[in-house]
Amino acid sequence: MARYIGSKCRLCRRENTKLFLKGERCYTDSCALDRRQYAPGQHGQKRAKFSAYGEQLREKQKVKRIYGVLEKQFRNYFHKAAQKKGVTGENLIEMLESRFDNMLYRLGFATSRTEARQLIRHRHCTVNNRQVDIPSYLLKVGDVIQVREKSRSIARIKESVETAQQRGIPGWVEIEAANFLGKIIALPKREEITMPIKEQLIVELYSK
Ligand code: SF4
Repeated sequence: MARYIGSKCRLCRRENTKLFLKGERCYTDSCALDRRQYAPGQHGQKRAKFSAYGEQLREKQKVKRIYGVLEKQFRNYFHKAAQKKGVTGENLIEMLESRFDNMLYRLGFATSRTEARQLIRHRHCTVNNRQVDIPSYLLKVGDVIQVREKSRSIARIKESVETAQQRGIPGWVEIEAANFLGKIIALPKREEITMPIKEQLIVELYSK
């Protein structure tokens, strides 16, 4: 499956949930979902009824879209989550949250996960003082992320750091804005993830 390059707001409208895919715009009155709270397309305003399978499928699509993960990789995460001790759905969310692009976004160095992915690919950031250009790299507790010195003057990184507090910095990371440095102090507990995700539906879908 190729990466989706169409309208991002359309994806939010399809899931009827804010997925925060467009950075600062998502926090303003210009958010397309705030203005048009119905699904896109000709029949979007009709009330959709989903079967149990349909609900499971939509939930899986929603989570894939939030974290910007394609089907094959998402399925791999699920299999790894199922093999780990603990609750599969919670393991899955924990793994997605540990991705480098997600943590960079959570730390406020990027306004969206898409932007975070681009910063990583363009080698603007390090992990434990080492160059890492893989957005899916899984971080551990204690890992330190930093924006490279020569990249700190990039306007969108500076602006993102300045507005990070307004977007909210979660409790499982620590940030030193002056040094463009962030540290993972814990992995998020399920109850700390406030996105409306019903991971049990995804487990049911893949367990068929
Ligand atoms: Fe989704 Fe952001 Fe577009 Fe709103 S502005 S519909 S939250 S991508």
